[in-house]
Amino acid sequence: MTLAEDLRPRLLEYAAPFDNHPPEILDGFRKGVFPFEAGSDKGLGILLLFAALYRPGGESAASRLILALYGRFGNEIFKLNRIPFETLRDEVEAGGALADAAERARVPGILRSVCDFFYRVGPLKTWLEKAPDWETRVLELCGEIYWMGRHSVMKNKARYFLWLAAGAHGFPQARDFAWPVGEGHLRFYVDFLKPGRKRGGRIVAGTYGGTSSFDAEKRLRTFAELSRAVFPEEPWKSFTPLDAYLRRGGTLHYRCRTAQGGCRPCPLSAGCPAAPHFLAMEK
Ligand code: SF4
Repeated sequence: MTLAEDLRPRLLEYAAPFDNHPPEILDGFRKGVFPFEAGSDKGLGILLLFAALYRPGGESAASRLILALYGRFGNEIFKLNRIPFETLRDEVEAGGALADAAERARVPGILRSVCDFFYRVGPLKTWLEKAPDWETRVLELCGEIYWMGRHSVMKNKARYFLWLAAGAHGFPQARDFAWPVGEGHLRFYVDFLKPGRKRGGRIVAGTYGGTSSFDAEKRLRTFAELSRAVFPEEPWKSFTPLDAYLRRGGTLHYRCRTAQGGCRPCPLSAGCPAAPHFLAMEK
């Protein structure tokens, strides 16, 4: 039995509650704010605008900003490259969602660049369906959209868009793709996957060094293989649960703990370094 097979039952159980914690941007589709499906050409356009602003921990702010801009511009949001830069800059400032001034200053350029991209590639659904593979699409997204990760090793913004697209529509190319790998994934690697690590053993929270030999290619390959082993039909489903592992946020201090409803029902508690602290409180 491989490590992934050994972990599979626990990961499946751990992942299940995250179905109820989708990205906030999808609320806009569920509530009818966006009058089209997330998997349609327009829906994928919204997801690309959102993903271009992605940074871990900033999903809610980016979602609020895209919703505010859609409220202001409607379907003209797909033509932001045709409105004056200053108008868009003022709307981004008025949206008030992004606290970081340097990030806010980049946003008009990013969104206009995404709209330029729409014109170059045409309908996004067709563009994704016709891809020989999605690694090719990652390189195109990063190469053509401003601040999308041209020089990034992991290219997580582009991978994040393709993760959203896979969840919204499902594409054959998604079966063999490598999803974003973030800090939660690296913590999970150290606690549950790292060679030589005694599984189920305790380590002190915060000692997550020692991943220097775990280079980008190996990270992507490791989690792509794990995702396919746990979710052979829908490998993209592994991203949110692993991304949330010991990541701050939510009503119960960590996103994973919020989704599980505490550490006591969590199937990973026998290997998680934070569990003893929380289990003592949950008695
Ligand atoms: S902190 Fe709690 S909920 Fe999160 S992985 Fe550890 S045991 Fe599970």
